[in-house]
Amino acid sequence: MKSIRLPLPGTGSNPSTHSQGTNPGSFANPADIGGPLSFSSPDTPGMPPVSSKTAWDFMPEDWRLSDGRWHAPDGFVPITQLEHARLGTITPEMERVAEREPHLDANQVREEIAAGRMVIPANKVHLAKELDPMAIGRATRTKINANMGASPVSSGSSEEVEKLEWALRWGADTVMDLSTGGDLDATREAIIKHSTAPIGTVPIYSMIMGRAVEDLDREIVLECLEAQALQGVDYFTIHAGVRRAHLDLVAKRLIGIVSRGGSLLAKWMLHHGRENLMAEIWDDICLLMRRYDVTFSIGDGLRPGGLADATDGAQLGELSALGELTERAWRHGVQVMIEGPGHVPFDQVEYNMKLQRQVCHGAPFYVLGPLVTDVFPGYDHITSAIGATAAAYHGASMLCYVTPKEHLGLPKRDDVKQGCVAYRIAAHAADVALGIPGTRDWDDELTKARAALNWEKHFELAFDSDTARAFHDEDMDVDTDFCAMCGHDWCAVRISKEIISFVSGKDEAYAWETPKISAALSEEQKDILQKRGVLTPEELHRLASKTRNQMGADDARAECHSEVTGDSDSAMELQDQGTSSPAAPPPAGD
Ligand code: SF4
Repeated sequence: MKSIRLPLPGTGSNPSTHSQGTNPGSFANPADIGGPLSFSSPDTPGMPPVSSKTAWDFMPEDWRLSDGRWHAPDGFVPITQLEHARLGTITPEMERVAEREPHLDANQVREEIAAGRMVIPANKVHLAKELDPMAIGRATRTKINANMGASPVSSGSSEEVEKLEWALRWGADTVMDLSTGGDLDATREAIIKHSTAPIGTVPIYSMIMGRAVEDLDREIVLECLEAQALQGVDYFTIHAGVRRAHLDLVAKRLIGIVSRGGSLLAKWMLHHGRENLMAEIWDDICLLMRRYDVTFSIGDGLRPGGLADATDGAQLGELSALGELTERAWRHGVQVMIEGPGHVPFDQVEYNMKLQRQVCHGAPFYVLGPLVTDVFPGYDHITSAIGATAAAYHGASMLCYVTPKEHLGLPKRDDVKQGCVAYRIAAHAADVALGIPGTRDWDDELTKARAALNWEKHFELAFDSDTARAFHDEDMDVDTDFCAMCGHDWCAVRISKEIISFVSGKDEAYAWETPKISAALSEEQKDILQKRGVLTPEELHRLASKTRNQMGADDARAECHSEVTGDSDSAMELQDQGTSSPAAPPPAGD
């Protein structure tokens, strides 16, 4: 038979360390660490090209370039990671980032920070506590942020710390404390104290506690920023890009301004007939943040709140202002990332990412979702994770999670987990697609375990092992050479294993000898199944209270089928007894 040779796109790096499987590698651009593309998607025709500038083009006025190196004035003491990087110093934080990102070395981390394409949000105060430094940028793996915070109607400090720990457990790389109720200072203090991850805030929320937004002035703003910097906040969202000129454009929108910070500052501008206070005192804010190495997350106060308002004049006008604020912050030696939309139709996601990359000269883009449709409240962790995957592939460096409670209420523990899991999926999927070396190794290992029908290994490798195990055991609590999805006779993986010419599933490292009744459900697994409500209390009790003997431990062999016994009748018996519903037909496309 003639082999099929279809043209494939030029391939970038291989995300699988050992080039395993038959995949030709990533279809993204080849890696360009040290250049403006780093790990990037090929441009769809018409996309804005990269900026020809970097943070090196926006140096402090009193620094001088000689012998190919930048020199600070005499007596200058570097504080921020950006300043150290510009002077050629590799800090312990850069070393730590290189350890956590094995595809980068510490000098590459330093170079990316110096170029403004990477940030290490690490306030000196938090560094002296428990902070474990991490980096956000196009050359690093995609990061996710989880939001939390007490509201005036729900939650308190201890509940927020519990949510923080829960978010870290489920893979949040940074956490934002967005408290607007309760004791804001105490909640923030508690969160910073307990967090190994960087903590971000939107300081204007504290600024207006007990006062009208119209009363804000320079002194109040700086005093509040200083207090939070002293507590150890690692990055501040400041909505300085909203300008008076943009407000007329907002009037035509379906849903106006949906950012709390953006709407408050719009009110301030209209009341005072002045430009945005945060923009007016931007240089003062930069000087203050530099002292602690607080990183900017320059806020998108005019992000669209619905598909109808995406990529409109107000949003793009603000983006242009964000580019100018970035340049000024870099001149002060302050690290910068930029916040982005919001609600964006899928076809416009790439344009939004690449426009930001151009206007903000490659400063890391930190996006909320974006949601790619508006009509699934209750499921916006999914609508937004779809947009987030596209955003990360096309240029975003950090994804702010959205939970199922988005637009509806304050997220609870399980919502935090659902949001984190959805966003870990988005980030990982994008990293594999971008060809970041080593990112697919995890997938490849799990594929090998799946091919060998090695359930224990399969669940051990799963991101959420408890859910995977509980779902499997809900139907059939025996680890054997099929599951309840297709049943014994229709199990394609089992059938494939029997075709001698295939090597599929024969990796010795994943071999298993005898089918085994699975261990008793853990409390967490029991909880998962209880919430699903499929099993009766008696069935749940049986799964949760198995003894070692019942499980066929030691030399007591479970009475169930495997390809080792080749006993088809036992298999059918097991299938009939062990599944709570008749065997389902094979999945579509199998
Ligand atoms: S092919 Fe079907 S029965 Fe076999 S392991 Fe996969 S889902 Fe389960």
